[in-house]
Formats: sequence, C-alpha cells, structure tokens
Amino acid sequence: MKTRLQGAAVEVDRIRSRLLAWYARTARDLPWRRSKNPYRVWVSEIMLQQTQVDRVKEYFARFLAAFPDVESLAAAREDSVLRLWEGLGYYRRARQLHAAARALVAEHGGRFPRTAEGLRALPGIGRYTANAIASIAFDAAEPIVEANSRRVLARLAGYGRPLDGPAGDEPAGDLPDRLVARRLVPRTAPGRFNQALMDLGAIVCTPARPRCSACPLAGCCAALRARRVDAIPAKAVPRTVKKIRETAVVLRHGDRVLVERRGPGAWWEGLWDFPCAVGGARGQPQGKKLGVVRYTVTQHAVARTVRVRRVVRRGAATVARRWVTVAGLADLAMTAPGRRIARLLKKPAAIC
Ligand code: SF4
Repeated sequence: MKTRLQGAAVEVDRIRSRLLAWYARTARDLPWRRSKNPYRVWVSEIMLQQTQVDRVKEYFARFLAAFPDVESLAAAREDSVLRLWEGLGYYRRARQLHAAARALVAEHGGRFPRTAEGLRALPGIGRYTANAIASIAFDAAEPIVEANSRRVLARLAGYGRPLDGPAGDEPAGDLPDRLVARRLVPRTAPGRFNQALMDLGAIVCTPARPRCSACPLAGCCAALRARRVDAIPAKAVPRTVKKIRETAVVLRHGDRVLVERRGPGAWWEGLWDFPCAVGGARGQPQGKKLGVVRYTVTQHAVARTVRVRRVVRRGAATVARRWVTVAGLADLAMTAPGRRIARLLKKPAAIC
C-alpha cells in the first residue's frame, strides 16, 4: 500500500506528464517563445503583465525592431522608449525596463544574472519576472505564479478563498503541499512546464466556463470532483470606483500648443499631456469647449473637459514644458487622454 507521501509524488508526476504532453500538442506559437534569449523573454514578460497576448505581439515586434538587444535599449533615450510603449499603459514598466537595461550594461557587461535572486536585484524585476526569466532562459526550477497558473492551482486544490493577494503570490495557507507551485515545477524543462501551466489557464481553465472536458488535468482536479469549478476562485469584493471631473485647457500660440511633462508620482509619470486641473480652472478664462474625453485609471473614472484658448504670448520652454506644433505631437510620448486630445486638435472645431 502507498504512503501519503508516495501518493502525493505519484500525483505530482501525473500532473507534470499530462500537462507536458498536452503542451507538446497545443503550445501556442508566440514570437518570444522561438528562442530562450533572456532579453526577449524579459521584454515579453514585462509587456504581458496586465496586457493581452494579441496586443503584446504587435508591440513586441516593434520594440525588438527598435531595440534588438540590451545594449541598444540601454543606449536609447527614455523618451524614445516611452514613445514605443505608448498605448500599452502602465508606463512604469517601460521606465524600469530602460533602467534595468542600463544597470545590466553598467554592472553586468550586458549579461543577465542566471539566478532568480540575481535577476531580482535589477529595477522592475519582481519575483514573477525573475522566475520567468530564470526558468525559461536558464532552466532554473523556479515556479511562475501569475493570474492563469494561480487559477489552475486553486482549482486543482479546491481552494475556496479569493485570489486577491499581490501578483506572483500563490494561493496561500491551506493549499495541499503537492499543489504548491514550487513543488510541482520539475528540474527538467521547468520553463516549458511553467509555460504549459500558464497556457492551460489561458486557453482551457479560463475564468468563466472552463473547458474541463478538454482538460488534461481533469482527473486530478478537486474543484471538478466537488462540482465547484464555477465557485473557484471565489470572487473578490469589488473595489469602488471614484468619479473625477477635470479640465484641460489647450493653450495655442500661432501653430503651437503648450504641453507639460507629468512629474514624479503622477499618473503617467514622464509622459506629455496638456495643462490640466481637477474640476474647472476657476478664475481663469477657459476658452472654447472642444469636447469631453473619458478614461479610467486605477480606481478612477475621469471625465476631462477639453477647452482650447489662444494666447498672445508664450512662456519660456523648460524641461517640463514645451510649445509644440500639432503635427509635432506625434513624436512625443503622450498620456492616453493627451493623445486623444491631440487628435481633437486636428479638427476644424479646434481653430480659435
Ligand atoms: S478540470 Fe476544469 S477546473 Fe480543473 S483544472 Fe481542468 S479546466 Fe480547470
């Protein structure tokens, strides 16, 4: 008769072999999977955080064409990096990617540390990204725990609580030991195993209506056995959204408009936008109304009224303020609402 430990080891083996066999048949052909180059793995993993795969494909191709290796990224100006990132959101990722490239060149001769611990010492590389690079590029047996793999693990274990901890955390506490990601990841081809687990979550074990009948792990799944698939992971309490109204006044002088760079700690830090204030710009002439741009950022739903006003004199340019032609706005890395205002400025209604 098998002991509990032997039984757990058999189940670990079964999960690994079924998952890897499934992956061998179904792996998605994604551009960053065609080599184990750590630079490509790193860029793709940073882009994939909070962003859909199809969208990342397009940005990844453009980014790699402009910065094919860590040296070219380190030598680039931050503005150029942000411009290529524009539209992907979460710009802190781009700034940290750039800072880490510079650190890699300055401190490591352009070579990546081969361990998760060494990688985590670089700017913007947390546990998830470090483990992804270490396991995929360097075959280190490190687990990758992100939204998809976390959901699969929670369902396999029949884990009943919400998965609302920080990204990279496993379902904590009462998870059976055999289903802890660090235990599951094999020493042979750990990167392949990690990618298989993430793919399973993305394609089969989806948040809504998972395709359990096509799942290679159906025989090991506690949620399926207990008929609790729809209840796991448990829903987190929804966060409240705060509504904000703000006003942007586009100042025109001749064919130029004033833009300002977002300062440290602001949303979209380092990107360009038009002068803007919460509420209305009280006590000042506001100019002609161009429209309302609506956007959401973190837990805020913002309605930004856009006005345009001609000025007779323009103030001096600084590192954080520039007078730019409307056509020249295309070359700046802009915030999402700023870019939408730039489009409004091309319409005849924007002439004042
Ligand atoms: S059987 Fe269903 S719930 Fe369980 S891991 Fe597979 S797809 Fe997910």
